[in-house]
Amino acid sequence: MKPIPFVSARLTPKALSAGLIGFIILVCISLILATAWQMKQSAAERLSAAEMGVTNIVSAAEQQAQDTVRQADNKLRDLVERVESDGIDRPQRLRLHKLMSRDVAIMKGIQGLFIYDEYGNWVTNSFSLDDATKNNSDRDYFIYHRENRDTSIHIGSIIKSRTTGEMIIPVSRRIQHGDGSFAGVALATIPVSYFQSFFERMAVDDKGVIFLALDNGDLLARRPTIGALMMTNISKGEIFSRYLPQGDKGTAILTSVVDGIKRIYAYRRLQGLPIVTAAGLSYESVFASWWTYAYRSFVIVGLIISALVVLGVVLYGQVQKLLKAERQLNIARGELEVLAQTDSLTGIANRRCFDVALKRAEVHSRRNGERAGLILLDIDWFKQYNDTYGHVVGDECLKKVARLIQANTNRSSDLVARYGGEEFVILLPDTDQAGTLGVAEAIRSAIFKAGIEHSASPLGVVSISAGVLSTGFSEGQSGAESLVEVDRLLYRAKSLGRNRVGVE
Ligand code: GH3
Ligand code: MG
Ligand code: MG
Repeated sequence: MKPIPFVSARLTPKALSAGLIGFIILVCISLILATAWQMKQSAAERLSAAEMGVTNIVSAAEQQAQDTVRQADNKLRDLVERVESDGIDRPQRLRLHKLMSRDVAIMKGIQGLFIYDEYGNWVTNSFSLDDATKNNSDRDYFIYHRENRDTSIHIGSIIKSRTTGEMIIPVSRRIQHGDGSFAGVALATIPVSYFQSFFERMAVDDKGVIFLALDNGDLLARRPTIGALMMTNISKGEIFSRYLPQGDKGTAILTSVVDGIKRIYAYRRLQGLPIVTAAGLSYESVFASWWTYAYRSFVIVGLIISALVVLGVVLYGQVQKLLKAERQLNIARGELEVLAQTDSLTGIANRRCFDVALKRAEVHSRRNGERAGLILLDIDWFKQYNDTYGHVVGDECLKKVARLIQANTNRSSDLVARYGGEEFVILLPDTDQAGTLGVAEAIRSAIFKAGIEHSASPLGVVSISAGVLSTGFSEGQSGAESLVEVDRLLYRAKSLGRNRVGVE
């Protein structure tokens, strides 16, 4: 069956729909992957920008803490040296008081300077000379220096100043006698508010954080500040417990132990000081605009995918319709082909079908050297039959004869066709003369014995005459020549008296 040109151009509708669905799926997957990759890239960029920003903030906080503490320490070193070498008699106390008052006035971040004797009594300070009755031997820094021979700088946890009532960070050094025994403490106080106000000027978001802590985890300053700043220890937090043991600086994404907010942190241990500073930008604010971008991208991708799916469904529907149309056309074409090859009266093959079969047999025989049998038969005195019984009965007779012919041709390759009028032709591939004659005789005899009444015939019943030929296709004889030949033989049978088979 030949394909119909307009539906068979290269791609079949089935391949087209599979290709279409595949293409749409591919486009959708590519779109999703490309968008996801882009989102991932953009998230990584935002994260690294945030890490860089927060590291800069930590550097600034470190610098400020270093400057402030170092400045206080330099002053303490100077005071210790003076007390140790010049003693603390009254004129010396007056001199030191003046010096300390002046220094505090010009030093940024230092709230007060103090000197205590070995019992914790107030010797002198930057505020006034009238506090000689007060005693600070209970303070942690005092106890530390009394108990430790360590002469380096000591930074304590936040305490409340007995002078101003402010929250302060005590920075102190040990004073000792010539023999190395404890002689007192020199103290500088840095108000927590000094760091806090510095932190307030830094660019962190609302949920961001900057803090300064001792390396034991005690908080020294924090933005935003918290009520229990003085009592808060963050050594259990991941910066102290996990990251600082691995290195003095770095970045990490963590959830705060103080307020439970997830942040991108940078942290750093101050060089030479027992202080750690860290800053964190809230994850939420760093990624807020990213999420807006992500949602917008997903909506756009979603819309494109929906449009593609709708397009795919519509095109798929159209292809299915095309497929259905093709199937119906093929059925119709098949039916037409059958009709085109069938004789409408008898239901057997028609002349056109026979012509094609004859051509095929001619080619086949020529190739294989086999002969094909050809029988042309004609009903005797059929004009008279029609004249006697009428055309309708004549048609019935033709049908009966066709059936009888078919009943006597047994091979599936045999072809019985109505040649025209009351003439039939039978093509018997791969059949020799004797076989063909046998079939022709059997048909003749069967029709005669059928006894179809024909009062106008000298025999009284319908009979046929036939020409029988074993074709010479293999010797170069054509189909048309064979037909002329077999027609001649049929004529001879007629002229010899009818109801017989004419053979060479
Ligand atoms: P002969 O013995 O020499 O064959 O005589 P004949 O009358 O059969 O010969 P002829 O070929 O002169 O007549 C054929 C007749 O067959 C003519 C026509 O009346 C009849 N005929 C041809 N086709 C049809 C058909 O389709 N239906 C009917 N009823 N008759 C047909
Ligand atoms: Mg005839
Ligand atoms: Mg006839």
